[in-house]
Amino acid sequence: MIDGKTGTMASELRAAIRTISDYPKPGIEFRDISTLLGNPRAFRRAVDELVQPYAGAGIAKVAGIEARGFILGGAIAHQLSCGFVPIRKKGKLPHTTVSISYSLEYGTDTMEMHVDAVSKGEKVILVDDLIATGGTASAAVKLLQQLGAEVVAACFVIDLPDLGGAKKIRALGVPVRTLIAFEGH
Ligand code: AMP
Repeated sequence: MIDGKTGTMASELRAAIRTISDYPKPGIEFRDISTLLGNPRAFRRAVDELVQPYAGAGIAKVAGIEARGFILGGAIAHQLSCGFVPIRKKGKLPHTTVSISYSLEYGTDTMEMHVDAVSKGEKVILVDDLIATGGTASAAVKLLQQLGAEVVAACFVIDLPDLGGAKKIRALGVPVRTLIAFEGH
């Protein structure tokens, strides 16, 4: 399934990601994209590959999830010549917001968007660095859909397929694009 070009792209991106074991807690393999962002070639490659299917697709906005989704999402929005919308942790946005609460391993968290950040019917792409259980991204999809946006795709550099997040997003009717996968947590 992997052709030469894709294989090279995936291995180049994989090599640019640093793994920190047992961070932020024992048993977690933290996939640190700061090394990818600091590598000019890998950063451009990741942005180009995430954008590629959506060039010319009439995307109005890229929505990025705080905080790493802002970095990738801003670059993707620039590439697509469209707007950028931040999806933030509770209490950070100054204007009127819509919010959604979602479950974490322990307890819940809330994310917010400005109520006028997207208009009804606008085509939006959702961006974050990594999808694990999909809890964060599915809450973001629901928030965007609640404002009437058409979520055309959810894009991530990294998929942790064992945690089932991409499947969860596809079950919401939203296509998922990921560039590389790591086994486990
Ligand atoms: P989830 O809601 O479980 O899909 O978690 C996704 C969010 O948590 C993303 O914003 C990721 O940046 C972060 N995250 C979850 N697991 C990891 C991991 N192993 N390495 C780096 N970031 C992670």
